[in-house]
Order: sequence, then C-alpha cells, then structure tokens
Amino acid sequence: MSGRRPTDHSKYAWIGLGSNLQDPVNQVRTALVELDAIPDTHLVRHSRLYRSAPMGPADQPDYINAVAMLETTLSPRGLLDELRAIESRHGRVRGGPRWGPRTLDLDLLLFGERRIAQADLTVPHPGLHVRAFVLYPLVEIAPDLTIPGHGRVRDLADRCDGEGVEPLDIS
Ligand code: ATP
Ligand code: CA
Ligand code: CA
Repeated sequence: MSGRRPTDHSKYAWIGLGSNLQDPVNQVRTALVELDAIPDTHLVRHSRLYRSAPMGPADQPDYINAVAMLETTLSPRGLLDELRAIESRHGRVRGGPRWGPRTLDLDLLLFGERRIAQADLTVPHPGLHVRAFVLYPLVEIAPDLTIPGHGRVRDLADRCDGEGVEPLDIS
C-alpha cells in the first residue's frame, strides 16, 4: 500500500487575499500571519503570491493576490467578523468605487461544503468560480478542491482567462 489519502476538504475555510495599495506584498504577507492568529483558527497552508491586473476600474495599480486554507472551529459569521477586523487594522477604507483600490481585501471563498445566502454573506463567494486570480492560487494548493455547484478548481481554472495573472518570483 502506498500513497496518501486525498485531503478531506470538508472542514476547511478558504480565504482570498488581495491588495494594491501601500506595499501590497507586505500587506498580504502580514495578513497571512494574522489569519493564523485568529482565535480557534489555524493556517494550514497558503499559495505563493500572485500579481494580477485589476478587475473593475483599470486606472489603479496591479494587485497582489494569494489564497489561504484555514482550519477553524469558528462559525462562518464569526470568521467573517475576524476578516473584517483584520481589513480594518490594515487601514481598509470602505465607500470607494466598486472593485476600487484597497490596502487589503479578505474574501471568505468557501467554508467546507456549506452554501450560505445571507444579506451580507454569500458562500461560496459569487466571483470565485470565474476569477483567475483566485482559481490559479487555489489550483496550486488544492487542485481537487470542489466548489459546490461549479466543479473542481482545476477544471474551472482551465476554462478561465488567466491573462495578467502570474506568480511572483519572490514568493
Ligand atoms: P467582491 O465581493 O466581488 O470580491 P469586494 O471584495 O470589493 O467585491 P467588498 O466591498 O469587500 O467587496 O465587500 C462587500 C460586501 O460583501 C461586504 O460588506 C460583505 O458583507 C459582503 N460579502 C458577502 N459575501 C462575502 C464573502 N463570502 N466574503 C466576504 N465578504 C462577503
Ligand atoms: Ca473581493
Ligand atoms: Ca471583500
């Protein structure tokens, strides 16, 4: 007998990180440390850092993106509150244009196989299955991960336009 069992993804939460202001590489790196420091939560692994062309308004800097896999006993709502607190500590200002520049964006991409449709929380994250800057880093750390209702991240990444999404040499 050989080979490891495939990871059971059902108990993990997946976070998308993004930044394009005030030293984005540092914003994302420090946010990864802060994710690991959330109570009752453990950072299992994370992708390399990627550079991506901005979505939405084009007159803004490129983004630095990554994804993180967390093990947590928090509720989805409790975890979202923690993500908002980290964004605030990074000086995230709300109220700008949709998809405008930001110091730090933390999206709750997936929470096990849960589907959540609340006013301020949709899981899986609605953009996840079509965004190369999320799918490419996810393929790197969990190619067999399945997005409920959409399929495997590897297949979704193959289908989307990855123009302008590149891993950073330094990550
Ligand atoms: P997008 O969600 O398309 O990536 P965005 O990240 O720029 O855009 P924000 O301004 O950060 O959007 O968030 C808008 C609202 O989205 C937040 O107030 C939050 O309550 C809500 N929201 C809904 N589902 C999620 C989720 N899965 N993760 C994070 N925020 C979510
Ligand atoms: Ca986002
Ligand atoms: Ca967000």
